[in-house]
Amino acid sequence: MSNDKSIIFPDTIRIHGHTWTVEPLGRELARDWAGDFNTTQQRIRIDEAANSESQGQIMLHELVEALSGMYQLELEHPQVQGLSQALFAVFRDNPEVAKLIAGVAS
Ligand SMILES: [Zn+2]
Repeated sequence: MSNDKSIIFPDTIRIHGHTWTVEPLGRELARDWAGDFNTTQQRIRIDEAANSESQGQIMLHELVEALSGMYQLELEHPQVQGLSQALFAVFRDNPEVAKLIAGVAS
């Protein structure tokens, strides 16, 4: 397998004022789960074999899960899944709204 990074995201993202790394999750681990996050290492990993739409869903899922911990929201996993899927659908259905929220609308 190639070592070339095959995920759609930049190498780092900002979360809650900190720089987190974003890394591909290799096949060995991605057999069992599609992504994970590690608050201590400030790292999110995304299944490198997933298509770009799935990678977007995985990223939102891991972000909501990580933020739930950081903001002491104590979301249960079904809540993480529901919220991340709902946000993903809204952003996909309304890309202009997502851009406006991000402050990058043209
Ligand atoms: Zn999860």
